[in-house]
Amino acid sequence: MITLKGVNKYYGDYHALRDIDLTINTGEFFSLLGPSGCGKTTLLRTIAGLEDVSDGVVMIGGKDMRGVSANLRPTNMVFQSYAIFPHLSVAENVAFGLRKRTDLNKDDKAKMVEDALAMVGLSGYGKRASHALSGGQRQRVALARALILKPKVLLLDEPLSALDKKMREQMQVELIRLQRHVGITFILVTHDQEEALVMSDRIAVMFEGEIGQLADPETLYRRPNSRRVAEFIGKMNFLRADVLQVGDTIDVDVAGLGRVSVNAEQAPMALHKGAAVAGVRPETLAILFAGETTERKLIDGVVDEVVYYGDMTYYDVRIAGVDQPLNIAMKNLIGRPVLDVGTRTKVVWDERSLVILA
Ligand code: ATP
Repeated sequence: MITLKGVNKYYGDYHALRDIDLTINTGEFFSLLGPSGCGKTTLLRTIAGLEDVSDGVVMIGGKDMRGVSANLRPTNMVFQSYAIFPHLSVAENVAFGLRKRTDLNKDDKAKMVEDALAMVGLSGYGKRASHALSGGQRQRVALARALILKPKVLLLDEPLSALDKKMREQMQVELIRLQRHVGITFILVTHDQEEALVMSDRIAVMFEGEIGQLADPETLYRRPNSRRVAEFIGKMNFLRADVLQVGDTIDVDVAGLGRVSVNAEQAPMALHKGAAVAGVRPETLAILFAGETTERKLIDGVVDEVVYYGDMTYYDVRIAGVDQPLNIAMKNLIGRPVLDVGTRTKVVWDERSLVILA
């Protein structure tokens, strides 16, 4: 549906997009994720036609978009600041998207406005004054205004970042539902990795104008293809590792854990013998509480730090042979105490949860 080939963008000498090759499928919920300044917004704007590419091609629906201005592209954009006109009613704001449609009469427009408001859960809000809406409601109005034109592609630039955490989580779920319902392609720009994981079919993780990894959320989380992707998405413990042998299985000596064998899937980058790192997610480690048993491997540790989240507790646990303590996420199940700093404990681990990165 949308294909970018060899897209480069320069702002003067600054190379903002570097050889981007990308295909986004029809009906897909696609996210561009990355730290501030990595080029997400620039990439979105080149798709929208708000930014010319310096080099390369953007195709939408099989058509080369060179020379096609933003308003003639089958895309519509929702911005971070909702750009709602405070002096207009909700219905007038939504109808603003139709202002150029001279082929529609007043009744047609009113019907379309009502349909668009229903889509975003604001049926009956048409007459309300926009300035009296909550942030979440305003964001829905902005969405309704973009959706009323039935674009083939909706481009969303950090649309939820101005909302508080509760509202944001609610809108995430609603956006997914809406996207499934209307079946159009959504391209979301976000710097919030959790938001991208929750919402997307696929995610492109960007660094410094390049795509570092493009994958579905689970692959990104479980098999990051570089240390920087692993660091950017979720929490990850890194342990020094020494690759001893690369073959059908990969033998690695991991600091603190000893010699392990992992399979090829656990090594998403090409590895060579010698220095590497082993990544392990906090929730794949565990503390063995009194009365619990395990078949898995155990190492001795001492609790160094405790961060209590209500549903979870994050422990830093020091083990022998490792400079940094291991971060371990534990669900606060019934009967599990919150341990004190200094408690001697057993850490449960499993080599299947390691990822080895060059
Ligand atoms: P953020 O999450 O902070 O919005 P981003 O990943 O969306 O970041 P972009 O807005 O795409 O980043 O910007 C990428 C780089 O290009 C940044 O270093 C930015 O300063 C630069 N840049 C963006 N627009 C322009 C412009 N019009 N002129 C010059 N440099 C620009």
